[in-house]
Amino acid sequence: MKVCEFPVKSKEHADKPFTDKQNKLQAGKFALVEFNKRIVFAPHCMRNVSMCCAIDKGGYYVCDQCGGCKINAISKLVKELGYKALYVVKGGRTIEKIVTEENPEAIVGIACFFEGDQAFKMLKDKKIVIQFVPLTKDGCTATDTDLAQVERVLKQTTKTVCE
Ligand code: SF4
Repeated sequence: MKVCEFPVKSKEHADKPFTDKQNKLQAGKFALVEFNKRIVFAPHCMRNVSMCCAIDKGGYYVCDQCGGCKINAISKLVKELGYKALYVVKGGRTIEKIVTEENPEAIVGIACFFEGDQAFKMLKDKKIVIQFVPLTKDGCTATDTDLAQVERVLKQTTKTVCE
């Protein structure tokens, strides 16, 4: 059982070489996928629970853009770019279920290195390309990610890859 502790900085991690390699391998194919065929998964632990008004859908939340955490900016950009959806997920089983139901061609996943590693392995037999963005501070609550990195990945198209 994974024991949650206070948030810790994710610097170098045992799963980082694998996730870096997968990101590089899949970046070209990811850039070819239209925005409306991509979905985004962000972890629920990034929410600011003291003010979060996201709608609880069971296995995931729908961000209501209260401005309390970085998911607000991610949600805004996802809508502007025309992504299919953003899910603020509670766990891996929900991701599997959503992928089966939504049938996306590409996924942007924001997660800790361990979860990123698991996602690449879980979806390796499906024809879905993944780009993973790690948390910069993991744990069970008040986690964080590099917003600039998320934005770079979300905006990635063949044009940006060729530049
Ligand atoms: S921005 Fe969205 S996910 Fe973040 S605290 Fe507000 S409603 Fe919750």
